[in-house]
Amino acid sequence: MEDIDLDLLHYLIYIDTDYIKAVVADTTYLPRTVLGVGTFLLDNDGDIDLLTAKQQVTFDKFIRPLLFDVACQGLAGPETCMGNGRIESNLLMPCYRDNIFRCRACRAAIASSTAP
Ligand SMILES: [Zn+2]
Repeated sequence: MEDIDLDLLHYLIYIDTDYIKAVVADTTYLPRTVLGVGTFLLDNDGDIDLLTAKQQVTFDKFIRPLLFDVACQGLAGPETCMGNGRIESNLLMPCYRDNIFRCRACRAAIASSTAP
């Protein structure tokens, strides 16, 4: 199992909860349920094995995708991604912080196109 980026989880649970709220919206889950699972994980060093079966489902449904499976928005929409369509895990924190979801390849493409 992949290791949870605790800094990233902390950001999503305590600093900017809008991302969690957005994925929970239009489901039968409550944001506080998902935030509760995230808090529990943070309190337990991200040890997923300590989650109950129910918490595990909540984690897989809402939190795991935010940590491990984030789509690149490409240069002008997801279909224009220069990479494999997914954002590298070490780039996720700046993505969430800046609300700009681009993978390394797309960032490089933009940087070179705006270079003098
Ligand atoms: Zn991309």
